[in-house]
Amino acid sequence: MDDCIFCKIVKGEINSTRIYEDEDVVAFNDIHPIAPVHFLMVPKVHVESLAQCDDSHGRLLGKMLLLAPKLAAEQGLAGFRTMINTGHEGGQEVFHLHVHVFGGGTTLPTT
Ligand code: AMP
Ligand code: ZN
Repeated sequence: MDDCIFCKIVKGEINSTRIYEDEDVVAFNDIHPIAPVHFLMVPKVHVESLAQCDDSHGRLLGKMLLLAPKLAAEQGLAGFRTMINTGHEGGQEVFHLHVHVFGGGTTLPTT
């Protein structure tokens, strides 16, 4: 997707603070953090949202979820919240699937 901001981040065409990368996934800090630690995990492949996923994405989705506690621990979090906004009505603003991981505050925001 030529005009997708997260595809551009994956390709390094837009700067981000990368905290992790492998052959399938990139994780980087959210530009507008809602908690002291707030990063996003995105698949390298462009998938619009969770609603566009099918069985072929199962391994990728599992991988991202299993990555969350590892990266959260690396960021110093003892606990964290995950969030996947799906569709306009679900609060999604960037239409490239991403998992929010955030924590570190005394009270965690819900949105
Ligand atoms: P969502 O509402 O789930 O689609 O969340 C999109 C998230 O992407 C928001 O928390 C934004 O702050 C974040 N975001 C947008 N542009 C960038 C960027 N260039 N680098 C890092 N995070 C971004
Ligand atoms: Zn994309």
